[in-house]
Amino acid sequence: MNGQTHTSVLWFRHGLRLHDNPALLEAIKGPPNLFFPIFIFDGESAGTKLIGFNRMRFLLESLGDLDRQLRSVGGRLWLLRGNPSTILQRLWEEVALTRVCYERDCEPIWRARDAAVRATCAERGVRCVECVSHTLWDPRAVLRANGGTPPLTYQMFMHTAATLGEPPRPVDDPDWTGVTFGKLPPVLMKEFQVFDDIPKPEDFGLSSPGYGLVRWVGGETRALQHLKERLLQEENAFRSGVILPNQSRPDLLGPPTSQSAALRYGCLSVRRFFWNLHDIFNAVHQGRPPAGHNITGQLLWREFFYTMCVENEFYGEMARNPICLDIPWVEDPVALARWKKGETGFPFVDAAMRQLVKEGWVHHVARNAVACFLTRGDLWINWEEGATFFLENLIDGDWAINAGNWMWVSSSAFEQLLDCSKCLCPVNYGRRLDPWGEYIKRYLPELRNLPVEYLYEPWKAPLDVQKDANCIIGQHYPERIVDHQQASSRNRHYMQKIRESLMEQPSAHCCPSNEEETRQFMWLPEECVSHVLKN
Ligand code: FAD
Ligand code: MG
Repeated sequence: MNGQTHTSVLWFRHGLRLHDNPALLEAIKGPPNLFFPIFIFDGESAGTKLIGFNRMRFLLESLGDLDRQLRSVGGRLWLLRGNPSTILQRLWEEVALTRVCYERDCEPIWRARDAAVRATCAERGVRCVECVSHTLWDPRAVLRANGGTPPLTYQMFMHTAATLGEPPRPVDDPDWTGVTFGKLPPVLMKEFQVFDDIPKPEDFGLSSPGYGLVRWVGGETRALQHLKERLLQEENAFRSGVILPNQSRPDLLGPPTSQSAALRYGCLSVRRFFWNLHDIFNAVHQGRPPAGHNITGQLLWREFFYTMCVENEFYGEMARNPICLDIPWVEDPVALARWKKGETGFPFVDAAMRQLVKEGWVHHVARNAVACFLTRGDLWINWEEGATFFLENLIDGDWAINAGNWMWVSSSAFEQLLDCSKCLCPVNYGRRLDPWGEYIKRYLPELRNLPVEYLYEPWKAPLDVQKDANCIIGQHYPERIVDHQQASSRNRHYMQKIRESLMEQPSAHCCPSNEEETRQFMWLPEECVSHVLKN
């Protein structure tokens, strides 16, 4: 034990990068220094509680990338398995730990873990430094600026965020001068599982869903390469005046340029992305990008969902979640299983679900289509089922953003509450987005020979056409699970009924029992709010 050495740990959870990493700068501040960058597999951190093969691979590759970068400056990333508080306590005992630094996770689900670590540090006089850079602003500052409550709509959020001023610019890159990397003492290597090599998803009992056409690679190095390409695309959009090209002209088959998984794990700093975009816009148009009409607005949606979850530990569920309406969804395990397997008989929905399982990423427009289909659009199944499946399978699967989007799409919260007017038709929507059926054929090879006019509604193909295409509906590809017109009009009717009963008897569904709770429902239709307040 060396009591003289200033010893610090950077505990990576999210923020898997070296650029714009304020916690890293804190950890290597003030040499002489013994520095341990660590990642702990505790079965929970970095969203490893519910994780499938593809996201785990992305995470492990991101850790591998960090390790390579740290080795190039004389260190390494220590990968351990165990309980974070116990590991930090043992580091304190064995290497005289003086400082623990980490990126603060804003989600309330990590509160117990971090409270335990803070307590361990406090008892031993170890400084615990928490930094915020996973979001543009500190979500708690947004809450404070909004009078201590979450801003319940995106508009309210934008308004409140504007009062905080511009988000901070990224911090400097690390200067490794004088930083000495520590080596874990052998006793700790015996006590805890320490990975010599970066593990594989299989080491965590996960098996590959099979070969996918698109292969996402995790890590900061790749994310920064991608960023350059992405910025060029966005610059072109700024110059040509195209609003949100990614949404308005979605390219379902193009090369993957999404940064969502890199942002989710913090391989790319959101502040770096935001300010790069901001500066490019300024160079092109001399001004700030107008909020909401370009990609910076998408980053603000991310921010909104994070901010909404900070004080709501039940944000990821329906019943106990005060901002989520309790909708009486049906339980239909057979339909749910068909949706998950991509066997609903609606090719556009099925293509997206197969892409999700195989590759771990699906374009936003297709996420919307399958989420609407599962919930208010067709199957009337609880969004929690879909959210759980997404969380497991998406490489960008993120507790807060995923739940926020599912509540949005299923009309369970936010401005969308009980809005069933804009149901996506899985036939017409697919035809509009994928007019030549290339996306469908890529993920549903059994439909490859079906003429394009039947590709979105294969049940309409005459038997001889099915025979010619070697695809008999009901045998090689399933019959449609529902009649969309019937299902969606039934669901609109349900929504209308809920809306009416909520107005008559608000407590039956969302049970705000006092004015404070009622304020949480401010985005209900005006007549509803006044009714709720009256009763
Ligand atoms: P761009 O349009 O390039 O946007 C840039 C970044 O902004 C994205 O990378 C993402 O970080 C953020 N962003 C964009 N749209 C949204 C949005 N609607 N909500 C929050 N942030 C957004 N995104 C996740 O990162 N993790 C999830 O678990 C997730 N689950 C979703 C579930 C459903 C049902 C739906 C409809 C959407 C979900 N999204 C999720 C949001 C969105 O689909 C993805 O962020 C987007 O597809 C990423 O593509 P992109 O990077 O090309 O987006
Ligand atoms: Mg609820």
